[in-house]
Amino acid sequence: MKKLLPTSTAGSLPKPSWLAQPEVLWSPWKLQDQELIDGKKDALRLCLDDQLKAGIDIVSDGEQTRQHFVTTFIEHLSGVDFEKREVVKIRDRYEASVPTVVGAVSRPKPVFVEDAKFLRQQTSQPIKWALPGPMTMIDTLYDSHYKSREKLAWEFAKILNEEAKELEAAGVDIIQFDEPAFNVFFDEVNDWGIATLERAIEGLKCETAVHICYGYGIKANTDWKKTLGSEWRQYEEIFPKLQKSNIDIVSLECQNSRVPMDLIELIRGKKVMVGAIDVATHTVETPEEVASTLRKALQFVDADKLYPCTNCGMIPLPRHVARGKLEALSAGAEIVRRELMAK
Ligand SMILES: [Zn+2]
Repeated sequence: MKKLLPTSTAGSLPKPSWLAQPEVLWSPWKLQDQELIDGKKDALRLCLDDQLKAGIDIVSDGEQTRQHFVTTFIEHLSGVDFEKREVVKIRDRYEASVPTVVGAVSRPKPVFVEDAKFLRQQTSQPIKWALPGPMTMIDTLYDSHYKSREKLAWEFAKILNEEAKELEAAGVDIIQFDEPAFNVFFDEVNDWGIATLERAIEGLKCETAVHICYGYGIKANTDWKKTLGSEWRQYEEIFPKLQKSNIDIVSLECQNSRVPMDLIELIRGKKVMVGAIDVATHTVETPEEVASTLRKALQFVDADKLYPCTNCGMIPLPRHVARGKLEALSAGAEIVRRELMAK
């Protein structure tokens, strides 16, 4: 990106109420068959329009064609039985009924490549595409086949790499892997989590990002955050190894979070997507609040490596709130951009 402080979002954006019930995760579709296929495309175009009107620089599909950021990808793989469900604890935090890995996992055909081509046709802005990371994928399943979290993660990394290469060929500029699990399983992240992520990006020429957050603004996450104390130092455990990895961009939660900003120093040299929008509140930030977070981050990130972003996806928010937050992000970045240019 030549533009200073290019803005983007972490991933999901609210869907129109005619497509899926708003403000909930795993919301069932309201349309079927061809109407659903057409409806998803229409929603993608509306969501792109919202981003462009708000002046977002690096745009995305807002995950309009997916029910959930992890589950939808896994639904397209073989080796996972969605009928056979077990209750597991996701990220050591909340119980959910999840599908079972019953055999060798593989990707019979591309998952999001057609959607990415469609988005590419709609805009000449840089586009970012989010995929779940290997560790977050295994944490959302019950495994009765490999019986090893690490082994399954390596298998998923290979599959993600196939998908990522095709997304790159479809014209995606930045491929992002969502790894909220990186904030929970530090030993595994350092043992093999970052290594499997590097397997997922092997051979890619486009830019690559990893998004590590404290989750959507849902109750299970906000309750968990209350137990984390006055300073959230989770990033400290994994940043030294991440700094040495091949990943280009690290996407982080900063706005209203108790993460000490100086931890970003530990990934000096990486591009940083600084979360300057809180997704756990309906209160829309003022541009000045966004600017203030970005100024703080500038102490630890070089200006040409700072990418203003949201803390996480905005799917649980009402659409008008999400739109307001996109505009605030854009306006806040513009304040700081002008300050930097005036120097
Ligand atoms: Zn997130």
